[in-house]
Amino acid sequence: MTAEVVVIGGGIAGIAAAIRVAESGRRPVLIETRRKLGGRATSFTDPRTGQMLDNCQHVAMGCCTNLLDLYRRLGVLDRIDWHPVTWWAQPPHEPDRLEAGWLPAPAQFTGSFLRMRLLGWRDKLGVARAMWRLMRMGIGGRRAWQGRSFGAFLQATGQTSRACELFWEPVVVSACNLPSDQVDAPFAMQVFQEGFLGHRFASTMGLSTVPLLELYDPAEAMIRQAGGELRLGVSAQAIAFDGRRVTGVVTDEGLVEGAAVISAVPFDRLDRLCSPAMKAADRRLQRLGEIGVSPILGVHLTYPVQVLQTPHLVLPGRGTQWLFDKGTDGSGHQHVHAVISGAAAWMDLDEAEIGRRVHEDVVWACPRARGLAPSSIRSVKERRATFAAVPGFAALRPSARPDPRGGIDNLLLAGDWCDTGWPATMEGAVRSGYAAAAALTGSGGMEADLPLAPLARLAGLR
Ligand SMILES: Cc1cc2nc3c(=O)[nH]c(=O)nc-3n(C[C@H](O)[C@H](O)[C@H](O)COP(=O)(O)OP(=O)(O)OC[C@H]3O[C@@H](n4cnc5c(N)ncnc54)[C@H](O)[C@@H]3O)c2cc1C
Repeated sequence: MTAEVVVIGGGIAGIAAAIRVAESGRRPVLIETRRKLGGRATSFTDPRTGQMLDNCQHVAMGCCTNLLDLYRRLGVLDRIDWHPVTWWAQPPHEPDRLEAGWLPAPAQFTGSFLRMRLLGWRDKLGVARAMWRLMRMGIGGRRAWQGRSFGAFLQATGQTSRACELFWEPVVVSACNLPSDQVDAPFAMQVFQEGFLGHRFASTMGLSTVPLLELYDPAEAMIRQAGGELRLGVSAQAIAFDGRRVTGVVTDEGLVEGAAVISAVPFDRLDRLCSPAMKAADRRLQRLGEIGVSPILGVHLTYPVQVLQTPHLVLPGRGTQWLFDKGTDGSGHQHVHAVISGAAAWMDLDEAEIGRRVHEDVVWACPRARGLAPSSIRSVKERRATFAAVPGFAALRPSARPDPRGGIDNLLLAGDWCDTGWPATMEGAVRSGYAAAAALTGSGGMEADLPLAPLARLAGLR
């Protein structure tokens, strides 16, 4: 069969690319090896209970302008619930709430941050000093930190160990999937500059009210409307290459010819789809094997009564970083989802031990769980959850666009690991898909970032 554009991989990057290609009037064929869309941000039916579960809670933020644009195009933006308050467990007290007050960005959190019992005055002064430094250096200034860890920045700004453990670490590891002393500093700096300081809506959390898989339902109709096709359960085995250009994709169901190919598979898969001749012809394909990964653990627990009383909870200083309330069923059982990012140390534990440790954290954070045992535990280990954003990683990230100095000019790359400047996130994946489609079609492109608040710009954040 022939397509104008063959897109390999039906994760968020591939969906984004295929939709934008379709909108440009070209016919995309989207090939996905699994029988469903969404890649790492999807849902599965638990064979033990028949319940549809997300492989892991996925959090969007207000600053994810391209992801929100994709949801809007798919017509599912109304299925995202916005959470202006972030709850931080503080037993035996009620959880601290971090929320924007009446001050404009970048000072919107000042009131609630000062009220947080989690940190003392010295810790808070240190945090304020670091935030000031992040503003003064500007967005461009974080480049100077490339190659150093965010931990080095925390040290340079004199953070207390309490602030590091209870404030910086939970945010950094959740957003970048690596602890501060391992993550390349600019990745974490971006989270605070653009996700907290730049705009009052930027850090507002968006959670899907439906299983993630349902968010992608409209994609197939959009692709078909353009004369394209969605082929689920079909695996790419190689990218066909005539020595100069790609000519299509070899799949387990035969060759799908195409005038151009957008690869939206993870870097290790792309590495396997490319012949040595392709790698020799295109620099973007030459260092894929050097990219490392970092795991995430998601744990679904059911409690016989409601134990978690806030929609979500940060567990500062604990092994489990987040709890999410996934609703109470007809028999009064509460479904709680626990997330552990940067979870390398958990990967060799069995489910019983994982359940024991997470339950201990639930009991610590939620007094109502004392004396109870979860009635079910389901852990989902994602060993290759995201790329490892370590110092040196930025140099390995290829551009979506073909290399102007030479390369395969009808092969476009997408995926959260491509050079979007973003950590491994749904937003990064959409950006990469939009960039690949725009490079190919000459239309569309990226959505604008949230505008920086005037006061933030005045303080140097530009
Ligand atoms: C546990 C976990 C929690 C996360 N939490 C968050 C979060 O809270 N917020 C956030 O923004 N991001 C989060 N992320 C990151 C986010 O899921 C990813 O950044 C994003 O989904 C990546 O999308 P992608 O399209 O680049 O890649 P993928 O989702 O990996 O998509 C690639 C697709 O290619 C397909 N494929 C692979 N090989 C082939 C082949 N040979 N032929 C055909 N198809 C193939 C795969 O099946 C897959 O569907 C999380 C990730 C994980 C794993």
